[in-house]
Amino acid sequence: MNSASATIHNSTLAPCAADPAASRGRLHPEASPAYRSEYQRDRDRIIHSAAFRRLEYKTQVFVNHEGDLFRTRLTHSIEVAQVARSIARALQLNEDLTEGIALAHDLGHTPFGHAGQDALNACMKSYGGFEHNLQSLRVVDELEERYAEFPGLNLTFETREGILKHCSLKNAAELGELGRRFIEKQQPTLEAQLTNLADEIAYNSHDVDDGLRSGLITVEALATITLFQEQYEIVRSLYPDLAPRRTIHEIVRRLIGCQVIDLVETSKAALLQANPDSTDAVRRHGEPLIDFSDSMRAKNIELKRFLRTRLYRHYRVHRMSAKAGRTITALFEAYIDDPRLMPEDAQQQVALLEKTFGKDGRARAVADYIAGMTDRYAIAEYQRTFNPAN
Ligand code: MG
Repeated sequence: MNSASATIHNSTLAPCAADPAASRGRLHPEASPAYRSEYQRDRDRIIHSAAFRRLEYKTQVFVNHEGDLFRTRLTHSIEVAQVARSIARALQLNEDLTEGIALAHDLGHTPFGHAGQDALNACMKSYGGFEHNLQSLRVVDELEERYAEFPGLNLTFETREGILKHCSLKNAAELGELGRRFIEKQQPTLEAQLTNLADEIAYNSHDVDDGLRSGLITVEALATITLFQEQYEIVRSLYPDLAPRRTIHEIVRRLIGCQVIDLVETSKAALLQANPDSTDAVRRHGEPLIDFSDSMRAKNIELKRFLRTRLYRHYRVHRMSAKAGRTITALFEAYIDDPRLMPEDAQQQVALLEKTFGKDGRARAVADYIAGMTDRYAIAEYQRTFNPAN
């Protein structure tokens, strides 16, 4: 057996990997699953949730109706899971936990991507704000209605910890055990750390791909960016006559590959040096143990900056974002003034949360309803609410 296949077949987890048998457990205690680990059960519940299916019709950068081939939140989440699992396996970490965190990490996203999040956050300003990360947690802890014995999906502490990538100190104080790491400045599991960076690898690479497909950015412009330029040179010298589309795909796959390899090798060295013997040692470590090398980090930042100025702020993307923001704001204002404009189950949620939390509760229920919408549902609701001919 050569060393490559030995690595692939080595299923032993590192001592610092998350161990489902040592999980900090679920909010509502349950018997252990048969033939699955606790983290496998988490992942399976995420896949069966309504919020997961809605990701198919939620924007990543391009709104759903702009084209069939662009990434959506669903394909993005699956790509993050793929990248994250590769890294987890290479570092002998827990793939099931990694996959669950990756598939759930965007469940709380509003329709219309960041434009939707910003608009809803502005609407919620005097009611405690809106943050998609916290909303993802709210979806899995409370909003999913699937099980007889508990609200939400009742996931393990470690999956929930991974979903909550960041959080303000004020919100952390209200989250109990889950928020404690932000106050005590501790790290999450290595699986959570790596999934966070797998998210970056996935969106940087697929936004290059989608950006080129849309024609909003060009290969010539991207060739001024070191990370892209390096891979472009390699592909051009190996395959000088390759058709443009295949050239782009060769570059994109190599962009993912070189970042994954850098992350695995840098993190392997850091883990070897720190030698954490448990997830608790990982948590207590002063800084994340999963990271890129300094040079890859710098190249990454350069690419991100390019995408921000040339793609995310491109006037055609901005024009759609502005429309999206207005749609969300108009719906929020209409619903909060008159909740009877919403479907009955949403009205019931308003009544329930208003009874307990007053005006803040009313606003939160409206935000939950809007955040749960897909892009096309939000557009249709806008028409139904404001267009008398509709
Ligand atoms: Mg993401």
